[in-house]
Amino acid sequence: MAEIQRRKTPTVKIGHVRVGWEVPVVVQSMTNTDTADVESTIEQVAALAVAGSEIVRVTVNNEDAARAVPHIVEGLDKRGLRVPIVGDFHYNGHILLKRYPAAAQALAKYRINPGNVSIGRKDDENFRTMVECAVENHKPVRIGVNWGSLDQALLTRMMDENSKKAEPAPAREVMIEAMIASALNSAAAAERYGLGHDMIILSAKVSGVRDLLDVYTRLAARCDYALHLGLTEAGMGSKGLIASTAGLAPLLLAGIGDTIRVSLTPKPGGDRTEEVQASQQILQSLGIRSFMPQVTSCPGCGRTTSTYFQELAEQIQSYLRMQMPAWRKKYAGVEELKLAVMGCVVNGPGESKHANLGISLPGTFEEPKAPVYVDGKLYKTLHGDTIVAEFKQILDNYVESHYRQGAKSEELVGAR
Ligand code: SF4
Repeated sequence: MAEIQRRKTPTVKIGHVRVGWEVPVVVQSMTNTDTADVESTIEQVAALAVAGSEIVRVTVNNEDAARAVPHIVEGLDKRGLRVPIVGDFHYNGHILLKRYPAAAQALAKYRINPGNVSIGRKDDENFRTMVECAVENHKPVRIGVNWGSLDQALLTRMMDENSKKAEPAPAREVMIEAMIASALNSAAAAERYGLGHDMIILSAKVSGVRDLLDVYTRLAARCDYALHLGLTEAGMGSKGLIASTAGLAPLLLAGIGDTIRVSLTPKPGGDRTEEVQASQQILQSLGIRSFMPQVTSCPGCGRTTSTYFQELAEQIQSYLRMQMPAWRKKYAGVEELKLAVMGCVVNGPGESKHANLGISLPGTFEEPKAPVYVDGKLYKTLHGDTIVAEFKQILDNYVESHYRQGAKSEELVGAR
């Protein structure tokens, strides 16, 4: 696999987490609780962190939220959870950061949206106040441009200039350039107000995949700031997942992007940690980072009309997800493990042999037996009602014998 050449950036410290080209791409997420509800927010941040979010952003939209921030950070500390909390500010961030110094200190980073900090003003005093707070408190800042709240004064000016040209560019082109200008002008202003070059991360989020590719490719070419990637308002379910993957994958493969978020719309009452799993899966599918053992399973077809192998694949997937928080601490490198759960003899043995552990279940007219392969070799053939339990046992034994610290890979996998 060709190595990805990451674009060189300064390394930005967000609490204990580093972001930039020298370190792996960082996964982040955002809560959707009312930040003022300290307990619910702690619960959700904890769930996101346990799922693997390395940075969590919370909205700081009003005085109650700002008052809650230090309690949230303290509550997480008491639980032994070390996850940097980022404050998301819009409109009134300059007031909240000044009025609530404990929040300004407790946050690990501020996200400033340059499109809505100075609405109705001719100067950028609000932006300046926020940056000065960051400087005083030694906090980095993400300048987060979003096309839904793009600086309207800047856009109008650029549209006017464009319309006066002999050959005006299309409106989409001007919008993309306005997003880049908003990010870069704000970063230059932040540096003038005292923020270090290595204390700035930029993002320029849009909701269209092609727009995302254009805006980030150009932004990456015009600066060396660390970049946070994400398709804004990606949407629900498979639409959100596929659009985010389509947008992020080409950029990440081109070495662009130092942190990512997948902005999925959860179902009402849905699991917020899905967005963390999605980010991890994108990075793992691209071979950039490993988070979870991967299960290869075939789609099934007319050769295997029972749902048995689908159920097994699902059970193994959930079993891995359940075990991983403990396995991660105990078994170094277990996230690299590859499994295969296949539906019949056509591709079953072949695919199983490419995995560390593979099982090929019997197709409709095949003999009712399930050969298990360990590191490419036939290890055992399972029969009857205990296939699932036995396969899980083999999996546990494999993990214990191959990933336990000091374990030798030649150790026995299990009783033959
Ligand atoms: S491995 Fe067998 S069951 Fe699975 S898709 Fe291929 S032919 Fe169909």
